[in-house]
Amino acid sequence: MKKYEIDRGGDRLLTLYSEAPKNYTSFDGLPPVSSTDAHMRWHPLRREWIGHASARQGRTFLPNQAECPLCVMSDNDSPSDIPVDDYEVAIFTNRFSALSLGATTPPELEIDTRAGIGCCDVISYSADHDASLATLSVARIALLIRAIGDRITSLYRHEDIIWSLPFENRGREIGVTLDHPHGQIYSLSVLPNAMKTQADAMAEDAPLTGLHETIDEALVLDRAKTAFSYVPRWARYPFETWVMPNRAIDGPHQLSDEEVSDLAQMIKAAAMRLDAVYDAPMPYTLAWQVAPKGYEGRFHFHLSFQPLKRARHKQKYLASVEQISGLFLVDLPPERAASILRGEEAGDE
Ligand SMILES: [Zn+2]
Repeated sequence: MKKYEIDRGGDRLLTLYSEAPKNYTSFDGLPPVSSTDAHMRWHPLRREWIGHASARQGRTFLPNQAECPLCVMSDNDSPSDIPVDDYEVAIFTNRFSALSLGATTPPELEIDTRAGIGCCDVISYSADHDASLATLSVARIALLIRAIGDRITSLYRHEDIIWSLPFENRGREIGVTLDHPHGQIYSLSVLPNAMKTQADAMAEDAPLTGLHETIDEALVLDRAKTAFSYVPRWARYPFETWVMPNRAIDGPHQLSDEEVSDLAQMIKAAAMRLDAVYDAPMPYTLAWQVAPKGYEGRFHFHLSFQPLKRARHKQKYLASVEQISGLFLVDLPPERAASILRGEEAGDE
């Protein structure tokens, strides 16, 4: 993997990743957005932090392709966040960041506050505005896995960052504001409660270890030599799909070459199966679950797709019970979802 870094000014870094060496022609690109009010407020009942970042209100909202900030540039008239003439995978600091490594003093209030220390990156999967995980080549997804691993290694060197979450919001149903295929990485100085609970569960009970051997085959979607995909018995979302290496490791930075290739195959196959259910792009959130600091060697890195369609014309909404209590109500049994994803039966209309 080749890596080329461009300092964009204003604490912004652009890193371009390619399989082979590449020469880039660069342009000025979009200017930085000043954001100084990022901070966190403590919720005294939920006992968790809430992020505040009003600069995000002005972020780019569904631009047409000519103004897409993730498309390449050919002249200085149509500025982009990736101001080069071509690229394969790009990771850069979000101009509309909810967090900052140079975070300022938080406001003094009658509740606890803290600076919004952290980093928000954008990951562009491809220069192709219309691509998706289902249409990218296995080699490109392998490059994406390596690029994310490289970025996490850099981020974890920062003493204030204790956990990174690479993720993708896909589809306007989720609230995506850019159609160009991309993900993000949020790197935080706090570990949200739900993430601490799952990291503790992996450290104490290791429920994913050895799962590739013990799982009910009725839940398995695809297998490669070192990785597999499945619908977990405990799925909370319709067509929820998990992809993971057989081996328990902390994150993509620890994958062997063979594991990168197998995982890339499994990710592409999973994305294709999700789109095939209704022969249309499946809206989803995708999480790359990476070990927080302090949990190294006691974690099982995995990806989870949380799709939001339960029937061709019906969306899964998180309504009162889910939003308020966290208790999920499942309409589509995971066992049936696996069978539909394998193409053995049709999804509900
Ligand atoms: Zn684009």
